[in-house]
Amino acid sequence: METIDWENLKDVACEVMQHAYAPYSGYPVGAAAIVDDGRIVSGCNVENAAYGVGLCAECGMVSELTKGGGGRLVAFVAVNGNREVIVPCGRCRQLLFEHGGKALKVLMPHGVMTMDEVLPYGFGPTELNEVESAVKVDMPYALQENVQ
Ligand SMILES: [Zn+2]
Repeated sequence: METIDWENLKDVACEVMQHAYAPYSGYPVGAAAIVDDGRIVSGCNVENAAYGVGLCAECGMVSELTKGGGGRLVAFVAVNGNREVIVPCGRCRQLLFEHGGKALKVLMPHGVMTMDEVLPYGFGPTELNEVESAVKVDMPYALQENVQ
């Protein structure tokens, strides 16, 4: 795979961070990722007066991914209001795992890690399918063996 232009991806995250709706925390976040077809998707956090309803930047980013036809995330970065690289929260690690798989490259404050390192032993459809009473689900595109 070609070299990832992390600086450009970070610039996209910084740009979208400026559109964040974060009146309650004052902590705007921007997220951006490269998709396996070359698209770049991005999102910003959107808070709410009911604090628990707030959406992380990754939520909007994954929504853009799926509305644009899906695909696998191959490289991801999130930034704060100081334009500094930040780590994805626990819930968003799960979101990124489902749409990026174990091979997704995540730019962390100390360098690039794979999703498998950021979320070891990630929960996925395999766990669901192991329970007889659970609704059987197809393996998401990003988690299929031939997509990695
Ligand atoms: Zn999050």
